[in-house]
Amino acid sequence: MKNKILTVIICFTIAGCSSNAQKQENKTVTDMDPQFDLFKANFIEELWKVYPTWASSQGYHKYDSILVVPNDASRAKELTFSKTNLDLLKTFDLTGLSDNNKTDYYMIENQLKSIDWAINEQKSYEWNPSEYNVSSAFAEILNGNYDSLDVRLRNFNLKMANIPAYYQAAKNNVKNPTLEHTQLAIDQNLGGISVFEKDFHEALNKVHFGEHEKQMMEANARESVKAINDYAEWLKKLDNKTPRNFRLGKELYAKKFEFDIQSGYTVDQIYEKAIAHKKELHQKMFELADKLWEKHIGGSIDVTLGKKGKVSKPTDSLELIKQVIDKISEKHVKPEEFQTAIEQQLPVLVDFIKKKDLIYIDPSKPLVVRKEPDYMAGVAGASISAPGPYDKNGNTYYNVGSLSGWDKEKAESYLREYNHYILQILNIHEAIPGHYTQLVYSNQSPSLIKSLFGNSAMIEGWAVYTERMMLENGYDDSPEMWLMYYKWNLRSTCNTILDYSVHTKNMSKEEAMNLLVREAFQQKTEAEGKWKRVSVTQVQLCCYFTGYTEIYDFREELKKQLGDKFNLKQFHEKFLSYGSAPVKYIKELMLKNPS
Ligand code: ZN
Ligand code: ZN
Repeated sequence: MKNKILTVIICFTIAGCSSNAQKQENKTVTDMDPQFDLFKANFIEELWKVYPTWASSQGYHKYDSILVVPNDASRAKELTFSKTNLDLLKTFDLTGLSDNNKTDYYMIENQLKSIDWAINEQKSYEWNPSEYNVSSAFAEILNGNYDSLDVRLRNFNLKMANIPAYYQAAKNNVKNPTLEHTQLAIDQNLGGISVFEKDFHEALNKVHFGEHEKQMMEANARESVKAINDYAEWLKKLDNKTPRNFRLGKELYAKKFEFDIQSGYTVDQIYEKAIAHKKELHQKMFELADKLWEKHIGGSIDVTLGKKGKVSKPTDSLELIKQVIDKISEKHVKPEEFQTAIEQQLPVLVDFIKKKDLIYIDPSKPLVVRKEPDYMAGVAGASISAPGPYDKNGNTYYNVGSLSGWDKEKAESYLREYNHYILQILNIHEAIPGHYTQLVYSNQSPSLIKSLFGNSAMIEGWAVYTERMMLENGYDDSPEMWLMYYKWNLRSTCNTILDYSVHTKNMSKEEAMNLLVREAFQQKTEAEGKWKRVSVTQVQLCCYFTGYTEIYDFREELKKQLGDKFNLKQFHEKFLSYGSAPVKYIKELMLKNPS
């Protein structure tokens, strides 16, 4: 029953309409927002029933004790959820919705259609055994501080009950998996076992449950460990004579790009842009390296030539760039100073942003730098863990991979990669004003939908955009920094070229290594890691360059349009105020109301 349609009559004045009244004129006659808000609230309630583990990860803990068994029944439930809500969406007239609800509408629609596509077309539940892994969901329950340890441990225990059935269903689902995802599933599942073998046990020692209850729980944990080990063993022995090719293929790839990236550009356009950008970066890098050669290398002796021979300047431009990059990479911190260096960087970035008036940074949301927790370990580097939209007061962590226990050579290579210059760019990207700042804004966004269905291209694009923005505003204007920045930017550019080429153009590993090592100046180990990543993910590597390109192009367009009235701080704050929506929708809204 549509009995609550509100009729809004607006702006009678014809001449001299106030700016406020002009804004209202954009509103449509039939305001369907109250109904749509109700629909959204219901939709999310239902969503969490279908995806309880996702709910927990977002800070909604009502269903913490439930682990869904991934079988035909649960997939049927997902499909029904998708269809029912797509039908409900159709009852809303888009013209009757506010701008914010319009984008929520599009994002919900995209989410629902992608559920259907994933189950009926992509079918990765058959060929990707690494989709089945319970450890991080359980680790989150142990590590969360939203409730007492007693409550969390009891939920942990209840959730464990379905683990054997979960892995049995996984075995039933898996058919001719790719070899790459099979190996990944083995590694990751075995890697996560410590959550049940060690972490849970330690947590249990901190609470005062009765002996009987504790023993029951320990027994459940042993069953869980057994189920995970069995799954890994089963995968190792799997008779897989016709494994699926890990390359997604042109058709599925284009569709996945549409769902996951939601770009204003097609995937082919983005690929062409990435190719052109790479060429442009090589040109700029050559100019800088050519100038820096004398200063850093010119006078030095070539040891292979004895005392007389000075190092000669390479004629090949990529070789010249590489040598200059190698030389200036020598400026880096000591292994034991890595985390401290990051900690000390953050206030410097905040000060610069304040001084230049680039964006408001909420001082009440602290960023805690910590050593990467064990359950995340394996990928050294840095990442941000932010509280979900339901626990806005939770800590935001900057996880830093530790170098302790690394041999000297490995640590040196890593530190040269994250040298004096790149470490600063990394901090801009991960923390301020990159991911951390964006997440703070995103959680303040009034739309739960946008917080939950965060668009990866917008999120990564923002972080990549801020790197360039900070340098453009004079953060470090040295040619060394710019050269290093271009190298870093080349990485996200080549991520896109690599992903697209591997999954749709049959790029070989050899060609990939040439792209990454020779054209993008990466260490061989990094390039090997990237090859591994591209063979187990699809499209994800495109989000950095796509989002960055869209945001940067949009800013330049708006600058042109507004001329003197363009204000960078306002642009940033307004852009982020829409939450993690696809850039194309933010752009549409901002262009409608540009001041
Ligand atoms: Zn060194
Ligand atoms: Zn990022």
